[in-house]
Amino acid sequence: MQWVTQSDEATEAVGAQLVRALNRTGIIFLNGDLGAGKTTFCRGVLRALGYSGAVKSPTFTLVEPYEFDALNIYHFDLYRLSHPDELNYLGVDEYFHDQALCLIEWSQKGSELLPKPDLEVTMMVTGDTERCLSVSAQTPRGRMALAGLSA
Ligand code: ADP
Ligand code: MG
Repeated sequence: MQWVTQSDEATEAVGAQLVRALNRTGIIFLNGDLGAGKTTFCRGVLRALGYSGAVKSPTFTLVEPYEFDALNIYHFDLYRLSHPDELNYLGVDEYFHDQALCLIEWSQKGSELLPKPDLEVTMMVTGDTERCLSVSAQTPRGRMALAGLSA
C-alpha cells in the first residue's frame, strides 16, 4: 500500500493508523534516506499510544526504550551500526517478544540478525514537504493489518 503525505502531521497520522491496525504490537522496519521522515513516523506512533514527550532518533544509543501503560516500545536507529554482530551485544533478542512494539530505522544495517518485520515501510522524499510511503506486509499479522485498512 502507498501513502503520499504533504506534512509532518500527515506522516505521523500514517504511523498512528498502521500501529492501531497492528493492535499496538509487532515489528515495523523503516527504510529511506536521512530526512525521509522515519523518525517523524515513529513520533506519530508514540503519540498515538499516549506518549507526549520528545521523540528523537536514538542515533548514538541505537535503541530507546519507552515503557509505559503496560506497553513496551523499542525505537531503534541502526544508522551507526558498523556490523550486524553489534546487535548481539545490545541483547536485542530480549526486545522482540509478543507484547512489544519494535520500530527499527535503518533496519537494513541489521541484516538477517533481525526477525522478519510485520510491516516494512520505505519512505521517499518526493518534494520539499512531500513524502511517499510504501508499506508491505511480511507476516500473516502484517497482511491482516493491511487488509483491515484497505477494506
Ligand atoms: P529520518 O528519521 O528519516 O532521518 P526525520 O523524520 O528525522 O527523518 O526528518 C524528516 C524531516 O523532513 C523533518 O525535518 C520534517 O519536518 C521534514 N518533512 C517535511 N515534509 C515531511 C513529510 N511529509 N513527512 C515527514 N517529514 C517531513
Ligand atoms: Mg531518524
